[in-house]
Amino acid sequence: MTTVTFDSLNPATGEIVGSHPKHGPDAVRQAVGRAEEAAGWWAALGAGERRRRLLDYKAVITQHLRELAELVHEENGKPVGDATLEIVLAITHLDWAARNAQKVLGRRRVNPGMIGLNLAATLEYLPLGVVGVIGPWNYPVFTPMGSIAYALAAGNAVVFKPSELTPGIGVRLAELFAEAVPEQPVLQTVTGLGETGAALAADPRVRKVAFTGSTATAKRVMAACAENLTPIVAECGGKDAFIVDADADIGKAADACLWGAMSNAGQTCVGVERVYVVDAVYEPFMRELSDRVAKVKAGEDYGPITMPGQLDIIKRHIDDAAKAGKVVAGGTGSVRAPYVEPVIVEDVPEESPAVREETFGPTITVRRTRDAQEALELANASVYGLGGTVFSRNTRRAMELARMMRSGMTAINSVISFAGVPALPFGGMGDSGFGRIHGADGLREFARPKAISRQR
Ligand code: NAP
Repeated sequence: MTTVTFDSLNPATGEIVGSHPKHGPDAVRQAVGRAEEAAGWWAALGAGERRRRLLDYKAVITQHLRELAELVHEENGKPVGDATLEIVLAITHLDWAARNAQKVLGRRRVNPGMIGLNLAATLEYLPLGVVGVIGPWNYPVFTPMGSIAYALAAGNAVVFKPSELTPGIGVRLAELFAEAVPEQPVLQTVTGLGETGAALAADPRVRKVAFTGSTATAKRVMAACAENLTPIVAECGGKDAFIVDADADIGKAADACLWGAMSNAGQTCVGVERVYVVDAVYEPFMRELSDRVAKVKAGEDYGPITMPGQLDIIKRHIDDAAKAGKVVAGGTGSVRAPYVEPVIVEDVPEESPAVREETFGPTITVRRTRDAQEALELANASVYGLGGTVFSRNTRRAMELARMMRSGMTAINSVISFAGVPALPFGGMGDSGFGRIHGADGLREFARPKAISRQR
C-alpha cells in the first residue's frame, strides 16, 4: 500500500524541507495501541530508572543541538540562534521534570485529618497511561517538550502530533528518544493534517490530551475528548498586556517590551501585544521604545511569519489599527510576505480587533493611561488571561498589580516570553485555556492522585 505524504515547507523560501506520512485514524489507533503497551513497561521501570533514561534523552538532544536548531530554522523560519535558545530551554525543562518527578509524585504519609478514626493514610501520583500531545509550530521543540517531558517523567507513554507546519522536528524528537530508550516506543510521533489530531483526541485509550494552539481548535479538541470524558490541558494563546508605571526603569522597560513583542516575529502565546503606559512616563518611554524599534529589521533580527494564513490576520489588525490610531512605527505596508516589519500604533480604540484579538505578529498597540489602576483595568478587559508584565521599581506596588492582573502568570520588570521557568506552572485563564504545564503542577497534570487509607 502506498503511503500518502505531505510536505513541510521552509516559510522563508517555500522550498520543501521534508515529506511525511499523513497518518489517518488507523495509523493513529495503531500508535496508541503500541503506546499502551509501552506505557505499562515504562511505568514498571520505576521512577529512578525513568529519571536515568530521561537524562540520557537530554544528553542525546544536547549532542544533536545544532542539527535540531537547523531543522527548526528550516521548518519554522526563526534564526538558528533563537532556535538554539528554544532547544536549550526545552532541555532545561526535561532536566527539571526528570530530577523532580519522584519528589513531587512519590508516595508520602498524610495526616488524614479525622480525629478518633485511627487511620493511616498515604498519597501518591500514579501514571495515567497514554498521553496525547498536540503541539504548535511557533516553538516546535520548547512548547511540546513542556508537556512531553513532564508526561514522560510522570510515567506515561506519549503520542505526539506535531503541527503540520513543523512535522520533521516532531519526528526527530521521537527518533532521538529511541536512542536513549530503544526497548519500547514510549514516545511516538504521528504526522498529518486534517484528521490526525482529531483521531488522537477521540481515542478512548488516550487518558489526557495536552493541546497548544487556538481557542477555536481547543473547543473542537474538547468536543472530541468529551465523548470519552478525556481531560485536556488547553494552552490557547493570549493578548498579553505590558504596564509601565510612573516609577519604572524606562530603559529596561523599553528593552523588555521590544523583546517581548518582536522576538519570534511576535508569534508567541505570551508575546507582548498591548502596552499601557502611565501619563507621567509616556513620552520618555515612547522615545526609548521608538529608538530601539527603529534598529530592528524583519528577516535579520527575527524570521518570517511561519503560517501563511496568519499574514492576513496581521495585515487586517495593522490596517485597522493604523486607520483608527496614530502610527509610531511601521503601519500599512509593513507586511512584505513572508516578513512583517515592527509595528507600533498609539491610541487604538480598545474595542478594535487589533486590541481585542490575538495578532501573533510583531505589532503592538500603546495607550496612555492616567495611572497604573487604569492601566490594570484596561489590561484586565480581555477575554484572554495568559501572561502579562508590570514595570515598577516599587516592589510592593508591583506585586499588588501583578496579583490583580487577570492572568495565569505575570512578570515584574521582565517579560515571560518565551521561557516559562521549569519550577513555575505555565497556563492561563479565560480564552487562554486551562490546566498547567511545567513545574510540580505540570507533573501532577499528567498523573492521577491515589489515596490509600488504612484502619489501624
Ligand atoms: P490550530 O488550528 O489551533 O491547531 C492545529 C492543530 O490542532 C493541528 O495539529 C491539528 O491537527 C489539530 N486539530 C485540529 N482539529 C482538531 C480536533 N478536532 N481534535 C484534535 N486536534 C485537532 O493551530 P494553527 O492553525 O497552527 O494556529 C492557529 C492560531 O492559533 C494562530 O493564529 C495563533 O493565534 C494560535 N496559536 C497559538 C499558539 C500558542 O502558543 N498558544 C501556538 C500556535 C498557534 P489535524 O490537522 O491533524 O487535525
